[in-house]
Amino acid sequence: MKTKMILTTALTLITMSMFAQNNDGRIPAKGFAVFEEKGHFQPYNFSRHAVGDNDIQIDILYAGICHSDLHHVFADWGAEEYPMVPGHEIAGRVVAVGKNVTRFKVGDYAGIGCMIGSCRHCDACEHDLEQYCEEGAIMTYHGIDRFNDNEHTQGGYSDTYVVAEDFAIRIPENADIAKVAPLLCAGITSYSPIMQAGVKSGDKVGITGFGGLGHMGVQYAISLGAEVTVFDITEEKREDAMRMGASRYVNVNNPEDLKGLDRTFDFILSTIPAKYDMTMYMKMLKLNGQFGIVGLPAFRNMPSLTVADLIFQGPRKVFGSQIGGIKETQEMLDYSVEHNIYPEVEVIKANGEEIDKAYQNVLDGKVKFRYVIDMRTMK
Ligand code: NDP
Ligand code: ZN
Repeated sequence: MKTKMILTTALTLITMSMFAQNNDGRIPAKGFAVFEEKGHFQPYNFSRHAVGDNDIQIDILYAGICHSDLHHVFADWGAEEYPMVPGHEIAGRVVAVGKNVTRFKVGDYAGIGCMIGSCRHCDACEHDLEQYCEEGAIMTYHGIDRFNDNEHTQGGYSDTYVVAEDFAIRIPENADIAKVAPLLCAGITSYSPIMQAGVKSGDKVGITGFGGLGHMGVQYAISLGAEVTVFDITEEKREDAMRMGASRYVNVNNPEDLKGLDRTFDFILSTIPAKYDMTMYMKMLKLNGQFGIVGLPAFRNMPSLTVADLIFQGPRKVFGSQIGGIKETQEMLDYSVEHNIYPEVEVIKANGEEIDKAYQNVLDGKVKFRYVIDMRTMK
């Protein structure tokens, strides 16, 4: 035991000295940024705050490309600041730990999702819902880190990240690490509303938008024993849906497919990133059915329900959901590894052209089902 401790301490010191610090203690980092709205990805050198007593430093192995990254790069949700390094699906190895850290040691796998801090004392934080922090959750990129000199946060398309241990997620050593990163956003964002809706064995569940989030939702719902119908806008994903265990696939552009669905679902989850007919899905819910919404289209192209829709659909409930709190994210990750639930990924090399190409493919509906950047291939 004692020998193990000495070895761990020695490893920590060696590893810390391997990772250079600037004169001001900041940690040099490099990654890929866009320098303007809709810009191309180019190499970018920057730095991260020093490893504080409660922080860990993660050497990033894989970073997922979420459709939210595209929304940010395209300024779909309002003005952004540049340069911007996106990436909030991060899996890597711990290379340094602060002196108060208890949940991680050097050499462990660790993950980071969409947020890296919150006030920790408001009603939301006390209920493990840090993403709704009343003082504002600090986002992994495109955020202002008020606990670290208001630094502008930069994301996971990079080589290293420093984060408070309380906002890092433990990844078991037996996890399929090349596939873990998307769990940190696509995984939790679909898992949480399915849990909130109380989906159970025998329920009829619809998942609309069969992309990164949607194909995770399909797997979680099936793992709970639900009978799943997948909705998307193309024929090309029909076989994939059936292969993943869905009982039906609906191409919403095919009127024949839509017949007979009204009043048949206990729960429908929408991950659609574009404008669509929400009322159509409300009509598909049973009397006490629920409609969970996570897809967040561009603000200029927002779908909507009217007051009349809500009133005339009576007892049916509509709710939105943003990622998940840290406790639930850990629960989702452990559940996923235990049940062998992973995204289907296409691993790409870390260079600007590859990332640009991946973005275009996501826009063109050509990704199955999540791009993951192998950050170790960065030159
Ligand atoms: P993807 O692009 O991977 O998947 C979206 C899927 O929706 C694609 O298969 C797309 O088809 C399909 N689609 C597009 N239009 C329709 C339509 N009218 N009806 C049915 N399906 C449609 O995106 P992600 O899964 O990564 O993200 C989805 C959305 O969720 C984004 O808006 C993202 O920002 C948001 N999000 C929200 C979070 C939250 O906390 N609430 C967290 C993470 C993401 P095709 O590929 O053919 O275009
Ligand atoms: Zn995301």
